[in-house]
Amino acid sequence: MQRIGLLGGTFDPPHVGHLWLAETAREQLMLDEVVFLPVGLPPHKEGKAITAVSHRLAMLQLALADSPFALNTLDVQRQPPHTTVTLLPLLRQQYGPEAAFWWLIGADSLRNLPTWVQPQQILTQCRLGVLPRPGVEIEWSALETAVPGVRALVDWLDGPTLAISATTVRQWARAGHSLRYLLPAAVWHYVRDHALYRRES
Ligand code: ATP
Repeated sequence: MQRIGLLGGTFDPPHVGHLWLAETAREQLMLDEVVFLPVGLPPHKEGKAITAVSHRLAMLQLALADSPFALNTLDVQRQPPHTTVTLLPLLRQQYGPEAAFWWLIGADSLRNLPTWVQPQQILTQCRLGVLPRPGVEIEWSALETAVPGVRALVDWLDGPTLAISATTVRQWARAGHSLRYLLPAAVWHYVRDHALYRRES
């Protein structure tokens, strides 16, 4: 049985927090493959300014170039809505009935699970690999009420946690600061060369 980790995200930009989530999951869940799945237009970010998918894909390719992780562009290539619940059956077709799926998320995403489209349906298709995120507490009774059975499907990942998010990276850049070491080196160069996340953009 193949053990597959699925890491969906906006990756605007991809940062060390994403790679660390993937690495802890790869090691601790003994995954055969970790697949990064850039989202086309995430439903929860509709109406927000998101960097063009061409830039996000280019940055992700650079971030993953020397990594053990794979890139799957299925979601950006399909028609909206780009929901996890409809993406999972497509991934099932790709990987076959035997593969075991873990959807890899940070604790903030677990906390927000009730706001996802059909969370209960998602949980019939995968387990969740969750890395704690500093400052994020899970209110289990509320979460269980909203999404019954979720707790039993969570595999917590252990190890150091990172407070970095793409939002703070963008804010830090707009304030004119350096992003060196917050991003994989090649991504940092790309952001600089394409003047992304600048004050005037
Ligand atoms: P934004 O700040 O724009 O919402 P983000 O940094 O949370 O972005 P996404 O691309 O939206 O990144 O996230 C993809 C997944 O990676 C989410 O489940 C998110 O919780 C997780 N993730 C991102 N950064 C971290 C981190 N530092 N620790 C743990 N999980 C993380």
